[in-house]
Amino acid sequence: MEMPNDSIEKIHAEVINCKSCDLCKSRTNAVPGDGDSKASIMFIGEAPGRNEDEKGRPFVGMAGKILDETLTKVGVIRSRVYITNVVKCRPPGNRVPTEEERRTCKNYLEREISIISPKIICILGRTAYQSLLGGSSILGNRGKFIQKDNRLYFLTVHPAAIIYNNKLRKVLEEDMETLVKECRRLQTSI
Ligand code: SF4
Repeated sequence: MEMPNDSIEKIHAEVINCKSCDLCKSRTNAVPGDGDSKASIMFIGEAPGRNEDEKGRPFVGMAGKILDETLTKVGVIRSRVYITNVVKCRPPGNRVPTEEERRTCKNYLEREISIISPKIICILGRTAYQSLLGGSSILGNRGKFIQKDNRLYFLTVHPAAIIYNNKLRKVLEEDMETLVKECRRLQTSI
């Protein structure tokens, strides 16, 4: 539930100073979510990588470039969506964040979701799928919509997966087209 007087700016200020888990010890910068706080679509990835850690912004490296290109291809302007991660600090060596790290950081993500209240939450990859919906196989479920606790989720692959397997680029593009179609059906502006 949204707390009175809570705001995206407040969450960002807390995130950049947060020392609640050990990831604060190895980070250069914490990486709060970024984008339109009135967005209809919210994208949730796993964790910041090296470029994000250096710049303090999500999805600014190779995976971010792939996401940007895909959004452009389906006619979505990045500045009109909101993009964040399950954990806000880079795990050393880009390892998958532990369950404890995800649990500790979850409060920020829940507050972001609550304030933005997006029409559709687009889950990027397995870690976000597992953390938000308890799922495991993203490839087996990508392209699907899931309704849970009054929220509508959409599942797709993480753009970083395309760096290692270019065949997934088409999968991501197809899924983004599905997402855009659903937004239009819901008469949601994007
Ligand atoms: S990952 Fe989250 S909980 Fe851990 S230090 Fe960073 S902002 Fe705080």
